[in-house]
Amino acid sequence: MKTTNLLIPTQKEAPNDAQIISHQLMIRSGLISKLASGLYSYLPMGVRVLQKVENIIRQEMNNSGAQEVLMPVAQPAELWQESGRWDQYGPELLRFNDRHNREFCLGPTHEEVITNLASQYLRSYKQLPMNFYQIQTKFRDEIRPRFGVMRSREFIMKDAYSFHLNQDSLQQTYDIMHKTYCNIFDRLGLEYRSVLADSGSIGGDRSHEFHVLADSGEDAICFSDESDYAANIEKVAFSKQDNNCQAKSTEEQVLTKKKTSIEDVAEFLNVDKSQCVKTLIIKIGDNFKALALRGDHDLNEIKVNNLFGDFEFASDDEIKSLELKKGFIGIKGLGIDLVVDYSASVMCDFVCGANEWDHHLTGANWQDIEFTEADIRNAVEGDKSPDGKGRLVIKRGIEVGHIFQLGTKYSEAMKANVIGESGKAVTTTMGCYGIGVTRVIAASIEQNYDDRGIIFPEAIAPFQIVIVPINYNKSTRVKGLADDLYQQFLDSGIEVLLDDRKERAGIMFADSELLGIPHRMVISDTHADNGNVEYKARNNAEKIDVKFDDALAFIQSKLI
Ligand code: ATP
Ligand code: MG
Repeated sequence: MKTTNLLIPTQKEAPNDAQIISHQLMIRSGLISKLASGLYSYLPMGVRVLQKVENIIRQEMNNSGAQEVLMPVAQPAELWQESGRWDQYGPELLRFNDRHNREFCLGPTHEEVITNLASQYLRSYKQLPMNFYQIQTKFRDEIRPRFGVMRSREFIMKDAYSFHLNQDSLQQTYDIMHKTYCNIFDRLGLEYRSVLADSGSIGGDRSHEFHVLADSGEDAICFSDESDYAANIEKVAFSKQDNNCQAKSTEEQVLTKKKTSIEDVAEFLNVDKSQCVKTLIIKIGDNFKALALRGDHDLNEIKVNNLFGDFEFASDDEIKSLELKKGFIGIKGLGIDLVVDYSASVMCDFVCGANEWDHHLTGANWQDIEFTEADIRNAVEGDKSPDGKGRLVIKRGIEVGHIFQLGTKYSEAMKANVIGESGKAVTTTMGCYGIGVTRVIAASIEQNYDDRGIIFPEAIAPFQIVIVPINYNKSTRVKGLADDLYQQFLDSGIEVLLDDRKERAGIMFADSELLGIPHRMVISDTHADNGNVEYKARNNAEKIDVKFDDALAFIQSKLI
């Protein structure tokens, strides 16, 4: 294609709301255009990239044996009532009424629709397993849309749903999907990790997230430095530790005045935060519980939620009504249940609140204190890996995919049964598998850019090569050579962009570099005098003169 026939609205400045590099570069290179908060149009270059990503996903999904379907974005409320999610799903679900006042929603995901299809068309165990996928628009009314298409309200997802007679069959497809996702992300040229997104406590690996490693990632993921253990920070499960505590010091109550935070107390008493115990008060229904953690650890609210159900932090007034002293709460005389994190319960001679205003205890120990133990904290760098091998390293990740063993949650509620081998009805077992297609583009850019712009991997670049002729509109020799080369590339099936604009070379170079086109050939009168064209790769500063007659073969040898 020729640049003059295309809309490529590149711009020097990024909009103010673009905080991360991929958002800035996607706007600046003219891939996308903002319509409203969390809503973006894909411009011609953006569509080319999007289609490449989609095609890689489609090919690999087809190879895995999955079948493509396309389900409506608008979904009737009845289906969501049947699954029970109409009431459970919060304001992320955009609901509306049609002209007959019937309730609908825009699909944030498609479990309900596919399970409804399965209940209609899957009748016999002989049809199973089956895996259906689509590449379709999703709508989630995200509370804080941000980072461009990384967290938008409307986005494209590849979602797949599989149906099985039993867990073994689900596990087989799940493993195939895991491999398929690796093939997809390998082909997309991403540096990624598959991480456990479930503690696996129910047996087997029931959920994995695929994360692209990037500093801008919203998730923290933990890796062992010695094994292939990897998990979302929230999902790292710790077990009870051996208690080798041998208390040495005797407890003392010390004046700490207005020091209420762990930082201040540790500094004041000249001890490490890891030598302090902090106590938080939570409210579950009408009941209160005290949670004790090591001073340098953070509470993991998901773990607490899994243990005790919905909870909130007690307010100052509630803490007062329990006769506890905020900032000085300790482990003694609390009058409510005390739950101690596994790594706090093995501490000895520690600092904690004295349950007296302006006082803390030093040399405190757990003897004579009644408590239960649990895993209620987030992992920190340097923790022992839960698989017993090595220590944890923490990195930032962008979640681009998620595979999940659903079990019978939807098939039971929506009666997706088949006749089993014995002639009796069997509820199907389901898996679901998502990839954030549009988020993948942003994630790729987060890993591939420099100060000039995007450096697209060839597999998803809008064009494989750009031809930049200098004085295309003035020099008939340059025009002739450029047109000739362009035609040779087209005839060989190479995706080539010819920059036929009447622009200065600097502008043409800058635009193609901003867009991240992997290969560039420059044709000028000077080069032509020597029978050459000049080649440069986007990811390499070196410029190479290539004989005009060898240009096609040269490029073909470079392309994947
Ligand atoms: P997140 O935790 O990032 O909100 P999620 O757990 O809600 O993601 P899933 O429901 O598993 O995501 O959706 C599958 C995939 O869709 C995600 O792995 C992600 O790549 C993509 N995705 C989810 N929400 C968005 C969004 N608002 N914008 C773009 N892509 C998204
Ligand atoms: Mg989400």
